[in-house]
Amino acid sequence: MSRMPGRQDWDGHLVGGKTGVVPPPDRRMATNLRGMPLRSQQDFDYRASSAYDDTLLSMTHKLDRDQKTRRGRRTYNSKPGLLTQSGELYSDVQADLSMRQERSATRRRSRSEVTRPTHTQGWDGSTVVCHKTMDRTLEQTTARAMARSKRGMRGMGRGMGRGKTAPSGPMGGSGSGSGLGTQTGRETETGGDSGRGGLGCVARECSAPIPITETLAMASTTGTPPSLSHDTDTRGRVGQMGRAQSCASLSHAGQGSGRKGYVPPHKVVPRTKEQIERRRTAIQSRLFADVDCTFSPVVNKQFNSYISPEATPHINRLMLAPVSVESLLEMRAQHPSARILAGASEVYVERKGRRSLPTEMIYVGLIKGMKGVTLVGESSCGVSVGAGVRLSDLEAFLDAHEDFLGVHALSLRKTLRIFASSTVRNTATLGGNVANASPVSDTLPLLLACNGTVTLASKEGERDVPAREWVVGYRRTAMRPDEVVVRINVPQATPRSFTAYYKLARRMEDDISTVGGCFSLTLDTEGKVAHAGMAFSGMAAVTKCFTSVESLLVGKDLSAKGVLSAAIEEMKKVSYLPIDVPGGLAQYRSGMCVSLLTKFVYQACNALNIELDEAALYSDVHRTVVDDRFSTVTRGEQHMETGNEDEADAPVNKSIPHATAHLQARGQAEYVSTSYPGDAFHCYPALANVPHGTLDSIDIERALMVPGVQRVLLASDIPGSNHVGVGAKDERILVPVGEEITSVGQAYALVIADTHETAHAAAGLITASITRLPAITTIEEAIKADSYLTDSITVERNVSTAEEATAKVRACPVTVEGSFTAPGQEHFYLETHSATARWRDGGIQIHAGTQHPNATQGAIADMLVLPQSRVEAYVTRIGGAFGGKEGVLTYSCFSALAAWYMKRSVSFVMERSDDLAYTGKRHEITFDYKIGCAENGKIQAMCVSVRGLGGHCLDLSGAVMERCILHMEGCYHVPVAYYNGRQCKTHTPSGTAFRGFGAPQSTLCMEHIMDRLAEEYSVKVSPITHLEFRMQNLIEDGQETVLGHPCNGIDPARDMKTLLEDAKILERQRSVSAWNATHPTRKRGLAVSPVKFGIAFTQAFLNQGYALVHIYKDGSVLVSHGGIEMGQGIHSKMLQVAANALGVPIEMCHIWDSSTASCPNTSPTSASSGSDLNGLAILDACRKLREQLSEYYVKYADPDNEMTWAQLCNAAWFNRTCMSAVGFYKMPIKGYSWQAHAGEPFAYYAFGAAAVEVEVDTLTGENYVRRTDIIYDAGRPLNPALDIGQIEGAFVQAQGWLTTEEFVWQEKKEGEGEDARMVPNGVPMSRGPGTYKVPAALDVPQDFRVSFVKDSFNPKAPFGSKGIGEPPFCLGQAVYLALRRAVNAKPGASELECPSTMAKVWSACEGL
Ligand SMILES: Cc1cc2nc3c(=O)[nH]c(=O)nc-3n(C[C@H](O)[C@H](O)[C@H](O)COP(=O)(O)OP(=O)(O)OC[C@H]3O[C@@H](n4cnc5c(N)ncnc54)[C@H](O)[C@@H]3O)c2cc1C
Repeated sequence: MSRMPGRQDWDGHLVGGKTGVVPPPDRRMATNLRGMPLRSQQDFDYRASSAYDDTLLSMTHKLDRDQKTRRGRRTYNSKPGLLTQSGELYSDVQADLSMRQERSATRRRSRSEVTRPTHTQGWDGSTVVCHKTMDRTLEQTTARAMARSKRGMRGMGRGMGRGKTAPSGPMGGSGSGSGLGTQTGRETETGGDSGRGGLGCVARECSAPIPITETLAMASTTGTPPSLSHDTDTRGRVGQMGRAQSCASLSHAGQGSGRKGYVPPHKVVPRTKEQIERRRTAIQSRLFADVDCTFSPVVNKQFNSYISPEATPHINRLMLAPVSVESLLEMRAQHPSARILAGASEVYVERKGRRSLPTEMIYVGLIKGMKGVTLVGESSCGVSVGAGVRLSDLEAFLDAHEDFLGVHALSLRKTLRIFASSTVRNTATLGGNVANASPVSDTLPLLLACNGTVTLASKEGERDVPAREWVVGYRRTAMRPDEVVVRINVPQATPRSFTAYYKLARRMEDDISTVGGCFSLTLDTEGKVAHAGMAFSGMAAVTKCFTSVESLLVGKDLSAKGVLSAAIEEMKKVSYLPIDVPGGLAQYRSGMCVSLLTKFVYQACNALNIELDEAALYSDVHRTVVDDRFSTVTRGEQHMETGNEDEADAPVNKSIPHATAHLQARGQAEYVSTSYPGDAFHCYPALANVPHGTLDSIDIERALMVPGVQRVLLASDIPGSNHVGVGAKDERILVPVGEEITSVGQAYALVIADTHETAHAAAGLITASITRLPAITTIEEAIKADSYLTDSITVERNVSTAEEATAKVRACPVTVEGSFTAPGQEHFYLETHSATARWRDGGIQIHAGTQHPNATQGAIADMLVLPQSRVEAYVTRIGGAFGGKEGVLTYSCFSALAAWYMKRSVSFVMERSDDLAYTGKRHEITFDYKIGCAENGKIQAMCVSVRGLGGHCLDLSGAVMERCILHMEGCYHVPVAYYNGRQCKTHTPSGTAFRGFGAPQSTLCMEHIMDRLAEEYSVKVSPITHLEFRMQNLIEDGQETVLGHPCNGIDPARDMKTLLEDAKILERQRSVSAWNATHPTRKRGLAVSPVKFGIAFTQAFLNQGYALVHIYKDGSVLVSHGGIEMGQGIHSKMLQVAANALGVPIEMCHIWDSSTASCPNTSPTSASSGSDLNGLAILDACRKLREQLSEYYVKYADPDNEMTWAQLCNAAWFNRTCMSAVGFYKMPIKGYSWQAHAGEPFAYYAFGAAAVEVEVDTLTGENYVRRTDIIYDAGRPLNPALDIGQIEGAFVQAQGWLTTEEFVWQEKKEGEGEDARMVPNGVPMSRGPGTYKVPAALDVPQDFRVSFVKDSFNPKAPFGSKGIGEPPFCLGQAVYLALRRAVNAKPGASELECPSTMAKVWSACEGL
């Protein structure tokens, strides 16, 4: 803008403005020792007691020094029983400590260091004086860093969510301190900016942030091993440590390496017995029962127990951290039941599951002697790996010594690349993996296949256990209680060996194996098999070796006829799994043993130059999908017009950054789940885990006894309506005794407590007696039982009954009939359901995580019998929703009900596992279809019966079904149609809104039908490609849709042609065909699919938008509107609209919240209509404001007049002009009447098309997207960059829906023998990211190109734009189509089901 307002420095978006709410202490440091996100602080403190800490550190340092000075004598100089369980010190130790403290203090003083005592409190109430010691220069540096940090520079783009001011919570987007951010912590140490990373927190509480160099000494076993020396600063390991370990490392570095640093000579000042007892009681009463100490009062406050509150007696937790193997063995001998902790990645998972930590632990991460890696042998080397070596360090070592490694070690290297994720590899150790003896371990199969060994040590000495004797049962090993794993040995190989590990996981990254197979072959001098090893994970409760197959190969010449087929036959026999095997996927897992054996033998023969008879059959197995994914770098292209430079349109149609991106990246953005008042209570419901039954009684006694629990509310405590719902009020807030439980996840009691952890734990102690009733859990069962939620609705065109439509279909020369099921999907938003309600002057003010504040307000008012004006629902932003927070109202009601009773703020944050398992999902929908086309290839008639898995209550299921059948025809012209839809009533969580709202299911089905019809046409009439068939059936601009309305404003054929040219589709189709002809096991598929999506709510009354715009006298503008910011950027776009409409710079405009107080009676933010409805309402308000201020506007607009915007506003105010305006917009459409079959449901259509190329390994079902090209008509985008983000995000979300995201239920077996099948029993098994796989970084298409349709303008939305939220989701259907075609390229393949998981792709390839 040429005319800048007077106050140039005004900046409402900078740090100096609103910096977000600092979450209460217990949530600030939500990362564990290794940077994993936690709810409780407890995990940090591996060595809990300051007293322990002092003693331990002193002891371990002493031992360390002893070992150094005695060189080789290595005596363990501990005093037995040095530590008592109560944390008291033996007097001789104290004396020893004081002496050494004195000595070191003198030394420090002489080295020009400064010592600053700080006072803190031990667990027992004693005052602990902690002397922070640092070099003077260092202290100054630190002071400067602290000052910088205070000035607000901390955490800029690094250490997200882990600095003290950064709120941490479940939203990655808010810088939640997830594992992803872990590597950033190191910079804190080097940079000395204490506010940034995890260690920064440590530094501020325990020590100065200092640079550390940690050198890993390598255990020397043979010759002069190559040594691995790391600077911690550059590898980021210390950055992943938590408080305790970091402190220890600091001291260790300071003393061991002779560098100056933190020395922790704590002085314990004992208190009286009474004081101690008082303190102890205080701690207990705050549910710190299982925790025996903390580091400082700050941490103390944060220290919430996550442990079962039943553990009321005080449990002292012993945590030891030796620094040498000798001291470890001594401690192990003294505490045989102590749990060894290495990377803690496994123990952390256990803690989450069992909600407890062992009471005795020995942390081995400080033992240098366990951190060595040594090459074994002169050539084709093996490796001997210290048990404490982190996997990422091992990976780096193996990479660096690749040329020396034998095949076994090389295979280990490859295994590490696909082991979990870099976050886990940065903490997990090989020792931990081997000792854990998991049946799905990735490294055990390798050790077993190549005859590795595990070296155990105890005070009696060392012994080697062959890997094959290591695992003795489910997670049980041959290790004695007094032993520890010290080394893992991968043997040397011979040049005539070949080893390979294949991991088949649902997702390539961060997933455990479904099946993992390691094979190893060694040939003798005559070329016969001297050794064969085959070990599998995922096939039994232990890592399994198929010895009969191994022995069958030993002594044989692999090239001899029949050898391989005999091995395969034997493998088929021994790998058989019954259908009801734990873990499911019986057929797939057995099949994989055979597939992987085949793959291996061909790869081995290729590597060892052995000629196989049928080599041509498997000529392409030498590279795997994993090889391909890791060898290429993904790329992307985004083509957009960068806006109109025309001043009249600035700043709309421009790629302006998301308005709060900088706050979100810094972890300063306010979210519901992290921004409740410090004195708030917390509530958590007791949830049913039975799909159907009668609630006979509830026992809340045990919950009430938990310290910190304030109250437990039942249905009888609800003063008003206990029923909520956006469709029908058929969902109960709390199920009353005597009534039916109709789905898992229904709440029957609500606990209110001091902390979230207490409330959650206490809710788990409430027991209910439920008489089980038979449950309907599938669409099939519901149809049989005639169980429906909705009446049937129909859309008809040129016919009036299904029979008529069927007859028309059957009269066509080419027909296809069949059934197709589109799967359900879990939203997996980053912030789980949350709300904080505040009792305020007899009303309720609720900060809710909802897309629908208006419905939330209404539900609370009904529940509490209040007028709606006494309830305010407001939303600052929510951490993702995707529709999942539109129809669900019960969770907001929980906190409102609790606040009503407590007269205080009450927060509710749902646990991820409960949110995932129990909240509503995308509807699974089954389509029974019949379609026919004429000889010219034009579709003639279609008849479809649609049935959805509605769940136990209506929610938005009715509206979802409406949109579903309105989109049934997809992007094609169907002259005769009859679609009938109905939602089934089942005993499962309610189906709800999810991006696309039913349309993705029907358009996916239509695309599937089009493929089948094209194939049938090719057989019956003349060959035609899928693409040609689609092109000739595309709906045209102006042609009528199934409802008889002209489909104006889009030109599918023109835009498809652009895509075909840009993406060189015809050329690539030829190359895909050529590839498939020459590759017997690796098949490719290329699919192009169009999307037409109607924009507007199908219920006409919802198509209205509100806005309230205030102009302040300094010229700043505050905008309120009905849309909810959930990451999609609606506030950013609305600011662009307001700034443009008022003609002021966007920096002058601000949006705080969306609130029912400022914008009442709003519609939910959904149906891709948020920007349209609210944008036009804002335009209306701004138009009114311009009119109100017109007198001054004239002067402002006059180029000769020097009046600035601020002067204008000030003048208007001074002259008593109203500077506020309400805006309203009503979409000019009638809506559709389902009774009269008349009206128009949509304002306009959005269009897009995607071309997707995939590759499939038909032997295993592994697959990946090679390339995606998208063309999308976003009109004239309000903000092209945000819109591209929506398109790419939606595509990948849909890709996940159709490939990896399979929601798993517990299953029951039905039938026997060949008819036996497993059916879900209504209880979810998917309860977290471990059991529900959303796409990860490696799943994104390798080559991803997006462009907009050029010169498009939509007159029905602000500034020519189009709704963008939902339509691009449907583009993901092309992934399924491409996979289907790749599968069909294999002879004998069967129809591919959705979601097309690896197992389903394989089954289809096998024709099963
Ligand atoms: C997100 C995630 C993804 C994962 N993905 C994979 C995967 O892809 N493949 C896979 O195989 N595993 C995977 N795991 C499991 C886990 O990370 C590994 O088993 C890891 O190697 C364990 O190492 P750790 O050092 O963290 O062990 P810890 O958790 O510290 O310990 C694990 C067990 O080993 C014992 N232990 C540790 N060290 C010793 C020792 N020196 N002597 C005796 N006992 C010892 C402990 O007492 C404990 O029982 C995953 C875990 C997570 C959390």
